[in-house]
Amino acid sequence: MTTVSNIDLHCHTTASDGAYSPEAVVARAYSRGLNVLAITDHDGVGGVAAAVAEAQRLNQLLLNGDAAAPTETYIKPGAEVVGVENGSLERSPAERLLTVVPGIELSTTWREEQIHIAGLFIDINNATMQELLSQQRIQRVKRAEAIGEKLDRLGFSNSYQRCCERAGVGASITRGNYARFIFEEGKAASIDDAFNQYLGRGKPAYVRTQWGTIEQAVTAIRAAGGIAVLAHPRRYKISNGRLRRLCTDFKACGGLGFEVASSQQKPLDFQYLVQLCVEFDFLASLGSDFHTDNIYRDLGQNLGLPDALTPVWRSPEAQKFGLDPNLKQRRVNLTYAKGGESAAVEKSEA
Ligand code: AMP
Ligand code: MN
Ligand code: MN
Ligand code: MN
Repeated sequence: MTTVSNIDLHCHTTASDGAYSPEAVVARAYSRGLNVLAITDHDGVGGVAAAVAEAQRLNQLLLNGDAAAPTETYIKPGAEVVGVENGSLERSPAERLLTVVPGIELSTTWREEQIHIAGLFIDINNATMQELLSQQRIQRVKRAEAIGEKLDRLGFSNSYQRCCERAGVGASITRGNYARFIFEEGKAASIDDAFNQYLGRGKPAYVRTQWGTIEQAVTAIRAAGGIAVLAHPRRYKISNGRLRRLCTDFKACGGLGFEVASSQQKPLDFQYLVQLCVEFDFLASLGSDFHTDNIYRDLGQNLGLPDALTPVWRSPEAQKFGLDPNLKQRRVNLTYAKGGESAAVEKSEA
């Protein structure tokens, strides 16, 4: 059984290392019953405008009762729904409208660790944010070129150019893009294997980078009117003591949000994050971190917040984007036909 939430505040498009265009991600969001989706590409906002426009177009089709309006099917690659609990797939068009939240996932370096700070409900044209993004972009291009050179020396050809060609125009190229490239070239058995063989820390195509500080990221997000959220806190390879230290530092520089729920997260990790969220008095966020077809990590999948936490959409920042502060999460339990849930796909990390 899979639980799918109607709110998902973390995903990627071809504007960074996602496999699908902003329009395709939005279409998938309707088909999976989402009402709120934040687009949070790495160090770039190039996918936001297209996603917002596509949601406006499809909402209009729903309101007009147009035959081309999106449907709620929950079809996964290779498997159709055979059972539905705790909800129905027969919601009215008005219940199926989607709000796209403009967001970002900023790479930072905190005490030698790469930490991801998501920004939600941001003005993507804000000058302070744009300034930080242009700095991050310089770092990203330099690093992506250096990774490409290393791969070329390891027997690939024109890695950087070919990686860019596969991504969207002006996309932030991450190791995720390279992992897919290596896999598609047949040089790795899976995305995970591409990290183990080439891209992971200490591997032959690894290039160390110094990103901006968490304070710079939080400051830019706040300047852009948004809420800074510590992304997937349990995915960093740091001790509990260091994670608490990170929470303290993040809060001290103005971080307000904490990503309590992630798609591919163990129950014990989730419980620990709920506890930290309460202890540090953060607003709770949730996000799949969807990148591509992956049975463990799809839009809305396995995302739930305990009622005791205050969700980020109750903040004044969210209201500027028309979110209802009393919005309730809807969680549908789905059973898929045999085959889909066990299909072998990549597992990924950050
Ligand atoms: P970068 O910011 O360039 O270091 O790349 C980070 C991205 O690479 C993450 O957002 C993930 O999409 C992907 N990634 C990192 N580690 C792994 C892993 N072990 N397996 C698969 N994908 C990974
Ligand atoms: Mn990524
Ligand atoms: Mn992400
Ligand atoms: Mn991340």
